Amino acid sequence: MEDCIFCKIVKGEILSHKIYEDDLVYAFLDVKPVSPGHILVIPKDHHENIFDCPENILSQIIKVSKKIAQLLKDKLGVEAVNIFNNSGGVAGQDVFHLHFHVVPRSKKDNMKMGFIGKKDLNINLEEIKNKLVLES
Ligand code: AMP
Ligand code: ZN
Repeated sequence: MEDCIFCKIVKGEILSHKIYEDDLVYAFLDVKPVSPGHILVIPKDHHENIFDCPENILSQIIKVSKKIAQLLKDKLGVEAVNIFNNSGGVAGQDVFHLHFHVVPRSKKDNMKMGFIGKKDLNINLEEIKNKLVLES
């Protein structure tokens, strides 16, 4: 993907603050952090988001995210982390190369995640469950 900024970061064509790299995965500091130590974990190959990324690469991204969460605890003393991915523009994805955010949290940061359950939505859980049951 010639115009993809994250592909350029993996290739070293754009500078990044690299935290970790292996055969499949690359991790680096977010340039506009929401808290100190905000890290992005990405596949080295170009995959747009969760929908087109192979499972073995996703597994490695999650394994690395766990190691990074521990690293943040050990080295920066963070109390907790949010780990999240935006897949698709409507879900807030701005860079269309898959990335998982690992965001350090502390009691004092006063941040609020943006999902609040809505009591007044007339949703039939049984109906939705019947459409969604996934075979193992
Ligand atoms: P999203 O909205 O989930 O697509 O997040 C994209 C993230 O990429 C944002 O948090 C940006 O700050 C971050 N970002 C964009 N360009 C760069 C870059 N060159 N280096 C590091 N992080 C970047
Ligand atoms: Zn890319």
